[in-house]
Amino acid sequence: MRPFAHVRAASLEQAIAVTARTPDARFLAGGTTLFDLMKLNVEAPSTVVDITTLPDLQDIAVGRRGLVVGAMAKMADVADHREVGARYPALAESLGKAASQQLRNMATVGGNLLQRTRCAYFRGGASYACNKRDPGSGCAAIGGADRNLALFGTSASCIANYPGDWAVALVAFDAEIEVLGPRGLRRIPAETLYREPGATPHIETVLEPGDLVIRIHVPASPALRASTYHKIRDRASYAFALVSAAVGVDVAGGRIRDVRIALGGVGARPLRVRDAEAVLKGQVFTRALAIEAGEAAMRGARTSAHNAFRVPLGVQTVADAIGIAMERT
Ligand code: SF4
Repeated sequence: MRPFAHVRAASLEQAIAVTARTPDARFLAGGTTLFDLMKLNVEAPSTVVDITTLPDLQDIAVGRRGLVVGAMAKMADVADHREVGARYPALAESLGKAASQQLRNMATVGGNLLQRTRCAYFRGGASYACNKRDPGSGCAAIGGADRNLALFGTSASCIANYPGDWAVALVAFDAEIEVLGPRGLRRIPAETLYREPGATPHIETVLEPGDLVIRIHVPASPALRASTYHKIRDRASYAFALVSAAVGVDVAGGRIRDVRIALGGVGARPLRVRDAEAVLKGQVFTRALAIEAGEAAMRGARTSAHNAFRVPLGVQTVADAIGIAMERT
């Protein structure tokens, strides 16, 4: 047991001030990732800043211009929200297909964005080299058990994948992440929140010390109404994606006027795949065209003997997701 200080924040400003001046402090929201990693000795914060009793960050507001979700809203509450399900199906599905019911009841949508990789070497402790856990120590996954790790955005330092689902849907539909920090309030496009590992895989986002995600904004769009989050995994529940696709389409006069496609499970960060979108834009939907879009999405994947099967799987996943979205137009 490592001792740590527990600070129950009385206000957002206090939470941010404590975390900004204590670089190894961590915010505590649902706790479903933080406690897990503390028990594994991956995270060892000197201070845990408890934000669970702060007001006004649980709201789910569905308006004409879009969806605004407080970062402390529970995953289950957003996934099961009637209007979110009807008007933003890809978003609801991305949360509903994540984790287990028990975890969704505890975990927050803000914390979900910042979950860390499931790379077994990262979580496996000091006997494994891991540049993300212990910068400069090496990467045991390269040449090791990489079946579930990233095919895109990897580096010579780290091949971990981003494990989440919700962020993939947010990237597909141009969501913005509202952050309050020592520099004040700002919005970050979901697509630019995450960093690729490069030589510093321990730095995973563009957030700075003291930055707290407070809300998520998703603009309304016709493509979001006819959307889906299609997730392929080793078992039907409580498993991370081998590959996933968030897809939305807007069809007018029989042709695809707008389309959004993002890939999950296969990248160091959630990936918007505009080359795949370009295949479909302005076209009449066919299964062959959907396969072509899937091939464009998976082009450039870097594979090994253990994970090459996820390229054809990804092609089919994207194509199937496009087909599901088309059925919802
Ligand atoms: Fe660590 Fe990344 Fe290598 Fe996994 S892939 S062992 S997280 S450096």
